[in-house]
Amino acid sequence: MAKTALITGILGQDGPYLAKLLLEKDYKVYGMIRRYTYPNFANLDYLGITDKIEMVEGDLADQASLYNLIKNIRPDEVYNLAAQSFVGSSFEQPIYTTEVNSLGVLYMLEAIRQHSPATRFYQASTSEMFGLSHTNYVQDENTPFHPRSPYAVSKVYAYWITVNYREAYGLFAVNGILFNHESPIRGIQFVTRKITDGVARIKLGLADEIRLGNLSAKRDWGFAGDFVKAMYLMLQQERPDDYVVGTGEAHSVEEFVRTAFEYVGIKDWKQYIKIDPRFMRPSEVPYLKANPSKAKKVLGWEPEVKFNDLVKMMVDADLARLKNKDRK
Ligand code: NDP
Ligand code: GDP
Repeated sequence: MAKTALITGILGQDGPYLAKLLLEKDYKVYGMIRRYTYPNFANLDYLGITDKIEMVEGDLADQASLYNLIKNIRPDEVYNLAAQSFVGSSFEQPIYTTEVNSLGVLYMLEAIRQHSPATRFYQASTSEMFGLSHTNYVQDENTPFHPRSPYAVSKVYAYWITVNYREAYGLFAVNGILFNHESPIRGIQFVTRKITDGVARIKLGLADEIRLGNLSAKRDWGFAGDFVKAMYLMLQQERPDDYVVGTGEAHSVEEFVRTAFEYVGIKDWKQYIKIDPRFMRPSEVPYLKANPSKAKKVLGWEPEVKFNDLVKMMVDADLARLKNKDRK
């Protein structure tokens, strides 16, 4: 019989890539969406899988909706990707961020514990939890957390409640501690997509600047399509455990900007960048670089797309989109 999976956050970036992977493995995929006046299926459309997913209604902030979903579907696997996922907004909306990212995870775990304890649970944890902390300039599963935003703090709660439900109740519940991962369907507020969209607009004569904050921050940027494979692998193991997932390379925001401009043949890129204090964070995470050796050893996972190719893929997609007049 086909396995069933429930994916929360199905309309975001990772949801569609994961759904595509599971559909290729013959899963029946349920996608949880909130109540919208105008739902946006653009990311699922981009991967051509919108009509292959059974949409179900639910909200991480609504405990009853999660209980009903888990009770009715009793899926083999739950991938909890839904979140208020933007660090910047978490400083503006700290309480909502905590309700969704922390309590929402507890509601989901309780629903599984009470109504479908055999369901395997994946929690979308994040390298942001490390914040200021590192172990010899990398972060691995043993690096302590030092979160630097309401987003990161909310995800630390979610991390530990997932560990606790595993230890206390024997649930198959795991954390994927994923470093930044990007794609042509990355949300436009995140720095990578903001840059590739801006570079494409400048190249096409549709804009004359990109306003950015801290250019010196470094991130370990990988491709979302690679990273969802690690999520899937974590739920196929004999034992539940937590894994760091990243490329093992760090690049600065400035390097990302330069690479994107140079790819479209613009060498004097500095004239297009305006530093804008609105995009500085009250407390910043200066440096994230994964040591993904456990994921490699235990899961057999390795990323395929390198930094330069990721930048090119995203610039190409934005150029194509804008040329098609789909100027979102
Ligand atoms: P996105 O922001 O693209 O997608 C998040 C999705 O969650 C959106 O579709 C959003 O729905 C949904 N959502 C938000 N609030 C709720 C709610 N209350 N109830 C139900 N759904 C909700 O994130 P990504 O796909 O990039 O990331 C997936 C997960 O991985 C997130 O939890 C994120 O924090 C985490 N993560 C991401 C990393 C990355 O680099 N991308 C790195 C590490 C962790 P709507 O469409 O309605 O807004
Ligand atoms: P994050 O790692 O989850 O916060 O992902 P983001 O893509 O939002 O930010 C990555 C880094 O880019 C952070 O260090 C930001 O401070 C930095 N950055 C610099 N300028 C900007 C900007 O204009 N927007 C965003 N989102 N980030 C910026």
